[in-house]
Amino acid sequence: MDFQPYIPGTNPVEPGPLARFTPPLEEGVISAWLPTHASPFDAAQGRPGSWVLDPFGFSARLVLEAARAGYRVLVTVNNPITRFLLEMSADPPSEADFKAALADLAASKKGDERLGAHLQSLYLTPCEKCGNEIQAEAFLWRKGEEAPYARLYTCPHCEDSGERDANPLDIERAKKFAATDALHRSRAFERVVALDDEDRVYAEEAIQYYLPRPLYFLTTVINRLDSLNLTPARRRALNALILIACDAGNTLWDHPSERRRPKQLNVPAQFREQNLWLQLEGGLSRWLETASGVAIETWPQRIPEEGGICIYEGRLKDLAEEVKKEIPIQAVIGSLPRPNQAFWTLSALWSGWLWGREAVEPYKPALRRRRYDWAWNATASNAAFTHLFGLLHLGTPFFALLSEPEPSFLSSALTAASAAGFDLVSVALRTQHDPIQILWLSGEHLKRQPNDPDIEDVKGAIHAHLLERGEPASFLHVHAAGLIALAQAHALKQNEQEFDEALRLTHARIQSALEQDPRFVHYSSGESVDTGLWGLEASSPLANDGSAARESLSDRVEVAVVTFLQKHPNSIFLEIEQDLYPRFPGLLTPSKGILYAVLSSYANRELAEWKLRPEDLAAARRTELNSIPGLIAAIGKRLGYSTRKQDKHYFWEQNGTTERIFYVLASALIGRAILETPYPPEQTVIVIPGGRAALASYKASRDPTLAAHIKTRQVVKYRLLRTLVELPVLTREIFEEQVAGDPLEKSRPQMIMF
Ligand SMILES: [Zn+2]
Repeated sequence: MDFQPYIPGTNPVEPGPLARFTPPLEEGVISAWLPTHASPFDAAQGRPGSWVLDPFGFSARLVLEAARAGYRVLVTVNNPITRFLLEMSADPPSEADFKAALADLAASKKGDERLGAHLQSLYLTPCEKCGNEIQAEAFLWRKGEEAPYARLYTCPHCEDSGERDANPLDIERAKKFAATDALHRSRAFERVVALDDEDRVYAEEAIQYYLPRPLYFLTTVINRLDSLNLTPARRRALNALILIACDAGNTLWDHPSERRRPKQLNVPAQFREQNLWLQLEGGLSRWLETASGVAIETWPQRIPEEGGICIYEGRLKDLAEEVKKEIPIQAVIGSLPRPNQAFWTLSALWSGWLWGREAVEPYKPALRRRRYDWAWNATASNAAFTHLFGLLHLGTPFFALLSEPEPSFLSSALTAASAAGFDLVSVALRTQHDPIQILWLSGEHLKRQPNDPDIEDVKGAIHAHLLERGEPASFLHVHAAGLIALAQAHALKQNEQEFDEALRLTHARIQSALEQDPRFVHYSSGESVDTGLWGLEASSPLANDGSAARESLSDRVEVAVVTFLQKHPNSIFLEIEQDLYPRFPGLLTPSKGILYAVLSSYANRELAEWKLRPEDLAAARRTELNSIPGLIAAIGKRLGYSTRKQDKHYFWEQNGTTERIFYVLASALIGRAILETPYPPEQTVIVIPGGRAALASYKASRDPTLAAHIKTRQVVKYRLLRTLVELPVLTREIFEEQVAGDPLEKSRPQMIMF
């Protein structure tokens, strides 16, 4: 397969509304990919932007970025909440409208009281220190209890701040809401489904994820919506703020927060009940910071040639006839749908709250379904892919992002697409924390004859990947290698098979390939095949088939990064990625972790720019490197050895017997040093600059083969040799002690591990 390089992007500064449910994608990826396959709007040439299609509408950001880059994006989206996110971020109300809408809400009357004051009073709590009644930021609950156990606040009077035990008043106030809860609860689900609706029970269940106080807050605000008499823009603005409160108001917020991304409706053991008034107020900036003016229309309304978004409200199935005649789709883009029972159920609920029962109707199945497994996902995806196939011309590219990857998700996607007639062109995979980038082309025949799977193909593909990598890989990587082989052989699914059977057999095949082939070694503390790392049997530095093993990926990455920085000082991280990824395409894409480890070892960062340290410029490094052999010889002489140089090695000898062999590095290429030093490990000493120790240690932490090699050899720093040569008394015992007392593990870097 002609693997494509991973396209790097940047993490968004502001993750945007409902970020824990929207796909975590990097920015700049789709706008970098699109021009390589379809032309953007070009005013100078008078050329309109190409039409691209997003058949899933799963990520508003992706669609928006494509539109902003000068494309006309046709998008089908069936989740009303996702659609609202898309419309809001393309064409948001003005800041003035947001403020006016919130002010109108606050100023409306609740009895004699202003509604704003009333809603704020729900969260009053006495300050522990000064006794003033202040706003709590959140109350903290334990699952199943009747009252909060603590609260979070910052007192504006005395500045007391942090987590404090719940006050008796807090407990009393929380319990008070329980008394009238049944009424608000029935109002809340009547907005979603009718009394006699058979889906009523599901709506009731979903509402269980709201405590009485936030439910009171939300129903009070929502019931006020219709009587406020707002302009359409202000109504949208208020809806947007309420949506933030709807999400903030459920019990899916862990405490202490671990940035969880919920997939199931599960109440954490400890959770935060957030102050929804503060959420309404703070919601404004979250909408405004992500928004931009992009033309957005509903099909068949037309959008300008210079780009925009056209929403198709119907189903993908119905789009085929209409579109194929009228719109030439140049490319397909999309974030592949990942099952999320929590978000889909809540979306149905929130749609009812914001827009009433009619809005929920087409999306109601989401309320009913409790479990979404990967076989369901593959079946649903295949239906979508099949409709999609029907409206594309032969050879249309489809660039998909698979976020929060896991082996089953990838199997599901590749199987569904292959069965629908798409040919897999490339898979670029960085780590399990980054979206996988997949490229398909719509293929020759819809009903292609599948082939029988061959386990030898799977073994061969995994072996080839590990050999190329030169170091162990995660299960996701070897699984991907096996899947790609099966996809290329059209052997992921037989015609008569259901998707659950096809997925089960594929997984069993990959597992058998790993377990049966003696060339594969599992580095894992657990039993399960998908934990830990998989590598090649490596008792010798030679690969099993006798060919020389590749230098490890991390060593090659180190060389490539340093070479790039020598030629391009003051580069930003993205430029380094742009140079590196084409050298290591597809499944070899290096992690950001290893790039940062290399950069931290060799370079300094000023603002965003990386530059080699003065001591790591080639000339300085060479001078220092040239001083080391003299030290080795001087120390050897004091210990009674003669030193002999042969190729890259320095031998300490006594009476014709070799005692020690030194290999001197300016880098952290310890894997290379070991490959090139075919001598007894216990006699081998590898000498590295102190500035490389943390990098070498980092590499060993992610490569058990390397760690084992290092353990049986001695790795010392330049510095130690300089110290030894200065010692007034130096014996062989002192030498051994000093070398043993300066292990690499002490150099563990303080850095983010990926
Ligand atoms: Zn206070």
